[in-house]
Amino acid sequence: MHLVDVHTHLDDPKFADDLDAVIARARANGVVAVITQGVSHEKNLPLLELARRDPIIKVAMGIYPLNARGVVVHADPDAAEDHDGQSAFSVEETLRAIEAHKDNIIAIGEVGVDLHFSDDKERQLENFRAIVSLAKRIHKPLIIHSRKAEKEVLDILEEEQFSKAVMHCFTGSHKLLRRGLAMGVMFSIPTAVVRNKQFQENAAIIPSGQLLTETDAPYMGPYKDLRNEPANIRDAVLKIAEIKRMDPTELANAIYFNYQKMFL
Ligand SMILES: [Zn+2]
Repeated sequence: MHLVDVHTHLDDPKFADDLDAVIARARANGVVAVITQGVSHEKNLPLLELARRDPIIKVAMGIYPLNARGVVVHADPDAAEDHDGQSAFSVEETLRAIEAHKDNIIAIGEVGVDLHFSDDKERQLENFRAIVSLAKRIHKPLIIHSRKAEKEVLDILEEEQFSKAVMHCFTGSHKLLRRGLAMGVMFSIPTAVVRNKQFQENAAIIPSGQLLTETDAPYMGPYKDLRNEPANIRDAVLKIAEIKRMDPTELANAIYFNYQKMFL
């Protein structure tokens, strides 16, 4: 089986001590590509160094919506925990650096809009529009975080007529999920599908031709309170195959085909 993890955070401090073992376990479980996400200008460039450790590591550079300089985030502790704090660099500077490295990255991510931890809608939508226009210019797919902003994100993609995009950990309504599918975007189901009802419902709805898999490691694990890692993609594929009543190898092949279509 050729498995893919299209959204993960290998630079998280939780992987600092044993990243080589994590990658070895991923390989042993059939994982052939792991896309690690950049969440700010400060964290984008070191990913190129990280990717030199193993060819299965692919780099996306981006700007997590709540890290973008100037975006006002809620003061509650949950919001503070969810991001790294404001980048010292402007969104324009970040996007310029991403463009300069376009030949070293497989996608632009993690980017998007988050209206759960921020009410600063206008600025976030303006940032996201700038990101979509960069994606169009450099012909790279987007890996999108949208929380309480699924409609806004789809509206912008539609306006810009851009569908080379992956919605990660989508928790919008079934109606919005179907709208995204009709637009041709892909959806990546996290390993939490093993225990999470909403992701199970999404897995049933998303056709195998528009489905991708991700861990969002070290978060969103299949087993509560345990650190997540790319090797767990296998468990997600087995669960999704059960939900879709498909042969796991056939499903994995379809997902791998989608990966190639989106990213290569
Ligand atoms: Zn993420």
